[in-house]
Amino acid sequence: MDTFLLNNSENDLLKAAEHIKNGNVVGLPTETVYGLGADATNEAAVRAIFAAKGRPADNPLIVHLADFSDAVKFTSSIPELAYRLAERFCPGPLTMVLPKNDRIPMVTSGGLDTVGIRVPSHPVMHRIIELSGCPIAAPSANISGYPSPTTAGHVMRDMQGKIAAVVDGGQSDFGVESTVISFDDENSVRILRPGAVTREMLLEICGNVVIDPAILHEVAEGAKVASPGMKYKHYSPKADIIMVEADHDAFLSVVEKEYDEGVYALVFDGDTCPYRHMTYGADSSQQAHLLFQRLRELDEIGAKKVFVRAPSPEGIGLAVYNRLIRAAGFEVIRV
Ligand code: AMP
Ligand code: MG
Repeated sequence: MDTFLLNNSENDLLKAAEHIKNGNVVGLPTETVYGLGADATNEAAVRAIFAAKGRPADNPLIVHLADFSDAVKFTSSIPELAYRLAERFCPGPLTMVLPKNDRIPMVTSGGLDTVGIRVPSHPVMHRIIELSGCPIAAPSANISGYPSPTTAGHVMRDMQGKIAAVVDGGQSDFGVESTVISFDDENSVRILRPGAVTREMLLEICGNVVIDPAILHEVAEGAKVASPGMKYKHYSPKADIIMVEADHDAFLSVVEKEYDEGVYALVFDGDTCPYRHMTYGADSSQQAHLLFQRLRELDEIGAKKVFVRAPSPEGIGLAVYNRLIRAAGFEVIRV
């Protein structure tokens, strides 16, 4: 199959929407990362997403809607708190896990009786949902396990020949996937995956916001988890990633001890580093924006082992920390 690169003209967005209506899979830009989209109600189309990624069948897909008011069509009940959150955070990088109805097939929800609902703010994604008239199931558009794509070029590299088209909508703003939450009771939510909608932001609307333990800790083999994606090794380039929680000087002495052919450092902007290195921003937002791109670039330049200076786990930094510790397979050096 030839994979066509489409641009953001109305004509090309119509082509992308036509593909979605016809049950094909298309790479789509969003404000978080690029997604691999198909009609969420079409079982064969959804199976084709899982096949293109090599994604385990029990890892559910998020369903993207043009407006939160459409959520009633695909869910069996919506708590009042969800509407209040939607008013504040939709469109945007927030996914709410709600009880699904029969219009969402079990393949889409990875066998769960719930569905993650998100309303993306990216104008290209929003327009394609409108033009197709479909709820769009879209996981991140990377090969399963590899860092998520934040440009159309990344998607092409992973998906060329496997999907109908990729729509180029520029570089993703946030650079990390959406915040995923579930509802514990009428005033409390649980963060299953951290993202750009932070705990502090959720606390403006919710009485209580619990951070699921699986965000920062390794999930035991065979354990039941609220967010199936947390079970899998994730976000990892080919290079061996080691996360180092240390100040600037302590970090450098860790790298010095291990420095060899193929060893690189990934540090903050402004760090002085005498070893082969790349930087990934000066604050948490920049680090979110750049992390996945840098992990891909390190593979391209042939890095074998990368020591990464750990980000602060505050605000959106928690999302960066969560992705990095998984990319490192929980290999952490603390000094
Ligand atoms: P991705 O599609 O790569 O952005 O990953 C989506 C992640 O969202 C999954 O791996 C799950 O961890 C989480 N998720 C999606 N739908 C649900 C759901 N119904 N219940 C719990 N977690 C979900
Ligand atoms: Mg993913």
